[in-house]
Amino acid sequence: MLIDELKHWFGFDSFKPGQEEIIQSVLKQKNTLGILPTGSGKSLCYQLPTYIKKQPTLIISPLISLMDDQVMQLKTHGEHNVSCIHSGMDDDERANNIKNLKKSRFIFLSPEFILQPHNFRLIKNINFGLVVLDEAHCLSEWGYDFRPHYALIGKIIQQFSYATILGLTATAPPHLLADLNQMLRTNFNVIKTSMNRNNISLNHKNFSDDEEKIKWLLTTLEQSGPTIIYVSSKKICSMLAQAIYQQGFLTGIYHGDLSYQERQTVQHQFLNNEIPIIVATSAFGMGINKKDIRTIIHFHLSTSPSNYLQEIGRAGRDGNQSQAISLFQPDDSFLLETLLFTDMITNEDVNAFELGLDVIPFKKEIIEILSSYYTYNELRHIFENTYQRKRNGYIRMLGYKNLDQCRRAYLMEFFGENLSDKPEICCDNDTNIELIKIFNRKKVKRKFDYKEKLKNLFK
Ligand SMILES: [Zn+2]
Repeated sequence: MLIDELKHWFGFDSFKPGQEEIIQSVLKQKNTLGILPTGSGKSLCYQLPTYIKKQPTLIISPLISLMDDQVMQLKTHGEHNVSCIHSGMDDDERANNIKNLKKSRFIFLSPEFILQPHNFRLIKNINFGLVVLDEAHCLSEWGYDFRPHYALIGKIIQQFSYATILGLTATAPPHLLADLNQMLRTNFNVIKTSMNRNNISLNHKNFSDDEEKIKWLLTTLEQSGPTIIYVSSKKICSMLAQAIYQQGFLTGIYHGDLSYQERQTVQHQFLNNEIPIIVATSAFGMGINKKDIRTIIHFHLSTSPSNYLQEIGRAGRDGNQSQAISLFQPDDSFLLETLLFTDMITNEDVNAFELGLDVIPFKKEIIEILSSYYTYNELRHIFENTYQRKRNGYIRMLGYKNLDQCRRAYLMEFFGENLSDKPEICCDNDTNIELIKIFNRKKVKRKFDYKEKLKNLFK
């Protein structure tokens, strides 16, 4: 019985919703796409089958912090046959992990790493039973955008034809299944639980400009508990963190320009409640893993319902009441549209590339990589689709700011989900929601003792 295996390996008495179905499907060697909300035990879905099958598992993961998090989780659990190779490691650590690859039960790698032929050679003879695509939505969301290697994962997976593929994600936009089936040339068995998280209330506020927004924000942060503020630009990330700091709160920033070590430090301070507030760009918020986050504030709207659910899903992983608040002012739409559409690859770019004409270097690089796997016609079709989807998601989010119906129902409808059980504290359109009241500590100005005062006087 599967439940006995669960008890034996993990000591749990029952599965969380979706886990058992996913594991059963994987054990029947069906390629499986598991859609489970954040914090509902996704990693168990590949860990338990790994122990049962007694074959190594390859986990392809998009972010260093996600890998580190799972490696740590496994090691805490007493599992030492784990390897992980990423760009945040020093040479010794890397060499050590490479040496251990062959005897590892769990191997964590990034798509960019595996697609290098000399790296691929390190794993090509390993008899994987399972290949896991962690955060599988990134394949279609990033693969055609800024991480083209993601769209080529199929190339690698074909090499392990005996392995079962397990895609795991907390967010499944309507097109995800078709995308994954096409990218991996397979037909996934889908196991889906609701993406709704009833312990997160949904709120939205409109303002006339940024000044008003910041004023509201600084007051709200007084008692918002552990909070992530998502912004859509690095510049605003720093500006906002500064304003928050000047207000007396300890805060940290978290975005792509910081080094791996810097991000680790901020994450660590946040985790240990040394700082109550983090300002993050949405691309990097995914790596933040803290169970008792009470508030997620979107200083700018998310660009799609999938991103929004993914980001607010960071809150309340301990099951306690939490809140999501999105903010908007009219100038934001310009910012969001620039972010979404400016750097998109168009059919003109593909045509130009095909004819050997000039294409902007970063676009050229992406088309070059993708054209090793896709025909030009396929690429034109892919980019047209990508554009259309981005637009659909964006329009849905614009509708969110002027909504007068239930926010939860509106978001779920986008994923084809009907809300069956609405929580009592649902959204600001349903009820008058009182915001959470958990005080955030402020900096204490330290008093100098007389010796220090003297020392300062004579410096
Ligand atoms: Zn509602």
